Amino acid sequence: MAERKTVVALRRCADYDDRAVQEAIDAIFALCGGIEHVIRPGQRVLVKPNLLMKRAPDRATTTHPAVARAIVRAVQAAGAAPILADSPGGPYTRGMLAGVYEACGMRAVAEETGCLLNDDFSTTTRFFEAGRVARHLDLLGVLDQVDAVITVGKLKTHGLTTMTGCVKNLYGLVPGTTKVEYHARYPDAELFTHMLLDLCACVKPCFSILDAIEGMEGEGPSGGKPRHIGALIGGRDPHAVDAAGARLIGLRPEQVTTLHAAMQRGMLGDYEVAGDALEPMILHDFDVPMRMRRANWVNLVSRLPQRLRPRPVFTHRNCDGCGTCVRACPAKAIGMDEARRPHVDVCACIRCYCCQELCHKTDVVVKRNPLFALLK
Ligand code: SF4
Ligand code: SF4
Repeated sequence: MAERKTVVALRRCADYDDRAVQEAIDAIFALCGGIEHVIRPGQRVLVKPNLLMKRAPDRATTTHPAVARAIVRAVQAAGAAPILADSPGGPYTRGMLAGVYEACGMRAVAEETGCLLNDDFSTTTRFFEAGRVARHLDLLGVLDQVDAVITVGKLKTHGLTTMTGCVKNLYGLVPGTTKVEYHARYPDAELFTHMLLDLCACVKPCFSILDAIEGMEGEGPSGGKPRHIGALIGGRDPHAVDAAGARLIGLRPEQVTTLHAAMQRGMLGDYEVAGDALEPMILHDFDVPMRMRRANWVNLVSRLPQRLRPRPVFTHRNCDGCGTCVRACPAKAIGMDEARRPHVDVCACIRCYCCQELCHKTDVVVKRNPLFALLK
């Protein structure tokens, strides 16, 4: 008997109208066999949105609150207790998180639905013997209090992994500045990607939902432009959900480091799309910079001399001298001049692009060596 394919559910959704989003989220759970097969009454469920930074939802940097709200309501309707939790870049503290919850619309979601916003700032260590590169992971302590995790990614381009979706989203379970240590511990794209896959296998999200109503193209995950895609995607397999998201924006799995590695490790197999048809929605002109499209060159590129590799450049056009990039840099490659303008030592830089990801002024761009123009 032929093995049944993994189901990924896709629903068109034109905007963040509450009723339309709720209908789509409920349909996605139903298309995947029903939420009752994912979570049980009485369980505590961590709903993990992408709250990269303190930014309003219309900037398409973070999971939209309408999506979080609909998932929270679906979990509550199933008799379980949701708790919204994430650790954005920067310090993992009550004050920092309060500002992020407020700006990203999560405080309003909690007030409207009665769900909890995580305020436990402890950490826990998970040992994971099966890990390829990460056999122990320091993670948010709230994981010890929950029975299940739903990862709710935002479909965006990403300088290191090409695309961020539901798998990369789980990196927010690594507390605040511990992320800086992890970038230093897994300093190239290949190691970092395998760590992300180990993290995903360790946490085992019970369901994954991708907010692809408004995505981000160009210099994602924070410096790009919002781009209307018009879909919500969900399923029990986070890799398959991400693969469907990649297809939507015109990428093959080999072009996304997490999907490429998942295929190599046998974590991504065939899947079928239920609900609305994916093919007519594919955006062939979605702006994925060439250096990201060539993610299957990542290993080659990471072996090039430092000066030939794509590098972060501080434009100093919008910079307010906040110093976030300096604190976030795992290689300590960024220094401030007397005018509080950051400068990068390209020989020390490990190309993690955290400075670009966390710059709230989108002052950091990634430039490639002119030689790479020949690779178009
Ligand atoms: S480049 Fe961005 S993160 Fe760095 S100091 Fe300037 S505004 Fe802050
Ligand atoms: S300069 Fe930017 S890209 Fe380079 S190591 Fe530091 S944070 Fe990462």
